[in-house]
Amino acid sequence: MRELVVLGTASQVPTRQRNHNGYFLRWDAEGLLFDPGEGTQRQMLYAGVSAASITRIGLTHFHGDHCLGLPGVLGRLNLDRVTHPVDIFFPGEDIDYFERLSQVVPRYPDPGLRPHPIPADGPIPLPDAPFRLEAVALSHRVATFGYLLAEPDGRRMLPDRLSAFGIEGPDVGRLQRAGALALPGGRTVTLDEVSTVRRGQRFAFVMDTRMCSGVEELAQDADMLVIESTFLDSDAALAHEFGHLTAAEAAQVAEAAGVRTLVLTHFSQRYPDLDGHRIEASKYFHGELVVAEDLMRVPVPTRR
Ligand SMILES: [Zn+2]
Repeated sequence: MRELVVLGTASQVPTRQRNHNGYFLRWDAEGLLFDPGEGTQRQMLYAGVSAASITRIGLTHFHGDHCLGLPGVLGRLNLDRVTHPVDIFFPGEDIDYFERLSQVVPRYPDPGLRPHPIPADGPIPLPDAPFRLEAVALSHRVATFGYLLAEPDGRRMLPDRLSAFGIEGPDVGRLQRAGALALPGGRTVTLDEVSTVRRGQRFAFVMDTRMCSGVEELAQDADMLVIESTFLDSDAALAHEFGHLTAAEAAQVAEAAGVRTLVLTHFSQRYPDLDGHRIEASKYFHGELVVAEDLMRVPVPTRR
């Protein structure tokens, strides 16, 4: 079960239709909550996302629309007596803000938060995670990181190749573990001969930024890219002045990077509807385009 649950899609201020940001990525047994803006706890209720399903929390930066829901979510983890550890990662140079946000009310019993202040681009050490998580610096007005979740490549066994060699039963597991298997008669079969690479899936999360190499790096080969598109091209000057993207820029980078499912979000209140974003993005992007709405669920596309 791999899906994105959109909790909120508004930049800067909420509107009647759009809550502040909030994104929950369900990834098998993992639940990653990104950028909980104000009202995230209530949006989780509407979306059927329990606090207990959160295993990691990622903040791209400390502007209010991306983090002011954190105290409520932390309080809820306590109230619901969530006992598993929750990793939380954020730009390290703004650790003061993290400390204030996590201490705005009297200290609860420690909910088992494991803070990871990120100093610079690179992998975030999560020893128990079934994926690699990387932070990539973006270009906004404060320290901002985007995140890449990458599943390691696996192997798909080829039944016809296995049977051609007469390999069956427990021998299949032995071959998978050892990478090779000696057959009676002396022939050694390697894993490459009886399997193909099953490419790991990639999820990328890009919030407030102007176009930069970090956006391109994160988007590359993503099965799903969630990306801010605050403005339309007609307001490109505003986008560049305030460190944001337009729908056209987001779509162009996604198309060049081979993204499969593109999720546009983080919309300015100046647009009463999002038809313009859809029309503009579909000029450049030819994969699955999703213009996010609050409480929408978007499946991560099935493997290639
Ligand atoms: Zn924002």
